[in-house]
Amino acid sequence: MTDSSNGVTRRTFAATLALASALRANETTPPRQQVYWYDRIRRLGQININEKDAATLNIDEWIDYWSSLKVDGLIASAGGIVAFYPTVVPFQHVSPWLGQRDLFGDFLRAARHAKIRVVARLDPTYNFSDALVAHPEWFFRDRSGKPVKHREATQLYATCMFGAYYDQHMVAIIRELNQHYDPDGFYTNGWPGTGLGRICYCDHCRSSYRDRFHSELPESSNRADPNFRRWTDWRLDRVLQVWTLWQNTAVEGRPDRVYVGNLGGSIRAEVNVKKIAGLCKWMNADHQDRSGATPLWDCAQQGRISYSVMRGRTATNVTSAYNMSDAIWRHTSKPPVEMRSWLAQTAASGMALWETWLGGSPKDKRWQQPSRNFFQWLAANQKHYFNRRSLSAVALVWPQRTQTWHPKLAGNTEALQGFYYALLEARIPFDLVHDEDLSPERVAQYAVIALPNAALLSDAACECLRGYSQKGGALVATSETSLYNEWGDLRKNFGLTDVFGATVKGQVEGPLHNSYLQVEGGHPILEGLGDTRLLPGPIFRVPIENIENPILTRVPPFPAFPPEFVFPESSKTIGPSLVIKESKGRTVYFPDDVDRTFWRSWNHDLGMLLANAVRWAGKDPYSAKVSGPGLLDIFYWATEPGLALHILNYTTPALMKGPARAIYPVGPLEVRLRLPDNFHPGKAMVLSNHLEIAQQQHGHELVLTVPVVNEYEVVVVPHAS
Ligand SMILES: [Zn+2]
Repeated sequence: MTDSSNGVTRRTFAATLALASALRANETTPPRQQVYWYDRIRRLGQININEKDAATLNIDEWIDYWSSLKVDGLIASAGGIVAFYPTVVPFQHVSPWLGQRDLFGDFLRAARHAKIRVVARLDPTYNFSDALVAHPEWFFRDRSGKPVKHREATQLYATCMFGAYYDQHMVAIIRELNQHYDPDGFYTNGWPGTGLGRICYCDHCRSSYRDRFHSELPESSNRADPNFRRWTDWRLDRVLQVWTLWQNTAVEGRPDRVYVGNLGGSIRAEVNVKKIAGLCKWMNADHQDRSGATPLWDCAQQGRISYSVMRGRTATNVTSAYNMSDAIWRHTSKPPVEMRSWLAQTAASGMALWETWLGGSPKDKRWQQPSRNFFQWLAANQKHYFNRRSLSAVALVWPQRTQTWHPKLAGNTEALQGFYYALLEARIPFDLVHDEDLSPERVAQYAVIALPNAALLSDAACECLRGYSQKGGALVATSETSLYNEWGDLRKNFGLTDVFGATVKGQVEGPLHNSYLQVEGGHPILEGLGDTRLLPGPIFRVPIENIENPILTRVPPFPAFPPEFVFPESSKTIGPSLVIKESKGRTVYFPDDVDRTFWRSWNHDLGMLLANAVRWAGKDPYSAKVSGPGLLDIFYWATEPGLALHILNYTTPALMKGPARAIYPVGPLEVRLRLPDNFHPGKAMVLSNHLEIAQQQHGHELVLTVPVVNEYEVVVVPHAS
């Protein structure tokens, strides 16, 4: 699409740019008192060893391998379930294969000799029966008070995170390792995880919950139960407390040590990642692979999640070199294309690489050379991977509370997936913003805020969006956005009814089939849809009061079969399906679940409606535009050396189910970059082969030609020297 093709004039183009730039100038990144080693990591490696490896692990061979990948750090198995060093902490089970060896110590010293940092891996989530006998209070209990075994390793019992096992036993292990080995950090596998957590009914949990709330623990994980909601907040408080305790223990005697927990979960995460990010120094996403019908872009999506809450502080993504797909083969390599794409998505989206292999003596080494190639390439280009900020002008709200607490849609991510895919397919660079991060400062960085059925919004979030709109910000919202408070209690009307210009009239209708929309008038939001008066309709819709001169209306439902009966009874339509408001800021509200229906149906018309709505509302708010064939994911960063546009190529038959065998090259591509204020571009080049590419500057815009994009390309524009 060109600037003029949707009615956007040069003047509005410039105005939007000024808006975005001016607003961005308000961005406040808190100054760091001290930059530590973990603030600058880009490549990590991990061998996740087993008990028997204690006898046989060839440390030199592994350090040689990881050195050749130029890793900044290694995650080394230390303790928790199994200790790989001679521990004196009671009930820390030492590997029976360890003998006189100090595997962790030897590994750490060898890594250090190779100038590689070491993060000690611990697992706090299970222990053995002898500990259960001696310390019954350390263990998780089900409702009947029974301890819970690991589903495969049945000699292990789950521990309780609310008591002394976490407060004392794990702290003793961290202190022991600090004292004897001085590792650079600690990582806990398996905790805190990405879900809401399981209710532990041990005596300690029962009594402390009673003391705190004068109430018994919830009887089940019923999300409608206010007691369960309260328990989840209680658990989150405990997560923050433990995280803080372990971080504080880690830095005893050395301020640059770090504790990192196990998170991730992409947009499916239910634990409040925003709150955890508020205190963590480094966020790790244990997001190793895709399984089932998962889109290829799932890792880049995790990157957007990580950036939404960490805002450029260190985030890592674990890539398994083995298969974590449905059948689980954790000892054979995943195809190199799939692995490279996962690594490229990690890097492009602003996260650091963390590659892992399971077991110290792999029989399959097919992953090693492709990994080495990618890591070495990244190391050679790493200065371009230190991002200062995202240059996206569009923010898509991650409605985590809706996905977690909606009375009917808990666990459903389809609306977000649909809107996400619409933006991806339209190549509109965008960030995610967490729904609990809707503050005036945060939203002011964007020209458009998109709300994909952000049904659960607090009064404060609604007020923030209202203020944003009044200041000229653009909103695009769908379906039940703001119809509930943050806990899923229904409001009488939208919290944003005045902003939308829409009033609820009854309960959500659906599921509908054979549902249609009628085009009543012309508008840039309909651009590209062609010669039609009928468009696919939604599966669910929110009935709203009539408005004057609607652009889209609803065709009353009628049968899809048999052909003799497939006509509407009347030519009259039944209310609006699109509400457009243009005051200081433009607002587009779709009372239909256009995004969710788009995700379910893959119908291109619906994706175009969403992308057009964003373009129109934000007065063409692109910061980077890429023209040419292929399905491409775009990340546009201001970096330490200048600008970097990352282009991830998803043009593969394995888009929706992995692993990919091949990604098909696309190009040439025309790239148009909007330049930040006062940015003077030097010579642009592509990182794949370090060749300079043709460039022309027109005011604030730089036009470039990228000859070809294979799996992944980065266009870098340094500051003019
Ligand atoms: Zn407990």
